[in-house]
Amino acid sequence: MITMKFGGTSVGTPENIRQVCQLVKDEIPRRPVVIVSAHNSPKVRMTDTLIACAKAARDGKPDSSKVSEAQLWICRELGVDPDAAGVSRHLDRFDKLLHGIAMIGELTPRTMDVVMSFGERMSARVLNDVLTREFGVSSKYRSSITLGLRTDHHFGAARPDPLCFPAVAKQIADIGTPVLVTTGFIASTDDGQITTLGRGGSDYSATIFGAIVGAEEVQIWTDVSGVMTADPRIVPAAASIPELTFTEASELAWYGAKVLHPATMVPAIESGIPVRVKNTAHPKHPGTVIRENPEPNPDEGAVKSIALMRGVSLVTISTGRMFGTHGFMSKVFDVFNRHNVNIHMIATSEVTISCTTPHAENVEKAAEELKNFAQVTVERDLALISVVGERMKGTPGVAARVTRAMADSAVNIRMISQGASEINIALVVTDPAATAAVTALHGELFGKAG
Ligand code: ADP
Ligand code: ASP
Ligand code: MG
Repeated sequence: MITMKFGGTSVGTPENIRQVCQLVKDEIPRRPVVIVSAHNSPKVRMTDTLIACAKAARDGKPDSSKVSEAQLWICRELGVDPDAAGVSRHLDRFDKLLHGIAMIGELTPRTMDVVMSFGERMSARVLNDVLTREFGVSSKYRSSITLGLRTDHHFGAARPDPLCFPAVAKQIADIGTPVLVTTGFIASTDDGQITTLGRGGSDYSATIFGAIVGAEEVQIWTDVSGVMTADPRIVPAAASIPELTFTEASELAWYGAKVLHPATMVPAIESGIPVRVKNTAHPKHPGTVIRENPEPNPDEGAVKSIALMRGVSLVTISTGRMFGTHGFMSKVFDVFNRHNVNIHMIATSEVTISCTTPHAENVEKAAEELKNFAQVTVERDLALISVVGERMKGTPGVAARVTRAMADSAVNIRMISQGASEINIALVVTDPAATAAVTALHGELFGKAG
């Protein structure tokens, strides 16, 4: 078996949806579990639109027309009967939900997960309808909730509960059609509340389902030809990377390469399943294969790719009393932990600790609490750039080239760190300098500035 995940851009237009159906049909012999995201194209940005409607409803303006118009347009163009495919029922429920939100005037993370779940639940139904009706494929649709995919109660960033996996595997085996279509991004708690895995979470669903069914391969179909040497939207000259190790891909995902949700690699590594990232618009392009031990490629340099994460804050904690005191670090990290603050990079000196984290309300709250025993500053609007490659260990001079490229392009480095594993050199710059910094680094490390 394989899992095939189609991102929002791959199911964003009627033409793309037909293309996806053909790709699925071609893989029937490998019994694909097809994982679908909500529609995402300039015309239909479904998840964003659902969120915007929910916020407007909270502010007293419940109006589901943008969602229904977009979804019904897709149905019409594809000849999908919205009643028969179960789309109308979802649109009605969404409209009622908006009125409920408007009445209460409150939008909790739990309700927001229900709101966002409609995107995947409708697009997967549409895809399954076209697949069976127009392409004659023997396929069934079951949402990931119906299949029994369970998570914790961390609404907006839920994590799967592996205890449910055997039962989900059995459900899938019992369905019996060569193709199963299901929803990415969403799941539910054991008491039946809908959860989501975090924005972009369908990639994670792909590897979770891959681990559940013991897939021989997880395919992630997107709008670029694999994982590239940098985000091609920032560096147009970025090239696709034929092979990555699990560790390199994890590092890139965790440090902001949007092509993979940060947690995507975890189930793949645990189960040893290779992940292939491919372009729906150019299916013949080999894309990128991610596996444990790729063939060494002598033509490749030590650096594989550059990731960029925007919206980063730098928290600096200083105290004259840190030196020689036991337990200071654990006190600091206990505060971060309780506020769910994710630390990406850390540097320490005798009297200060500096940490980077994606900026959010919880960072400010943690900082307030840290002020009880230290001086704390929070600097916002920064970007974290990561230069990633396993072969950097044992290759001297990469850090020097990185700093030289920054100096030559007059970018001030706020903080720099190379972890002990030497797989990642991370630097913090101001957000306005981020694009120039990534472009200069790409020029230095890959010979193409874009
Ligand atoms: P999907 O809808 O398929 O999930 P996403 O928009 O979530 O697509 O992810 C694909 C996008 O990720 C690309 O269009 C690209 O702009 C961005 N991206 C960021 N870093 C990289 C990278 N290193 N390689 C490829 N794409 C990247
Ligand atoms: N539709 C969800 C999002 O936009 C999940 C995904 O696309 O992977 O974040
Ligand atoms: Mg994505």
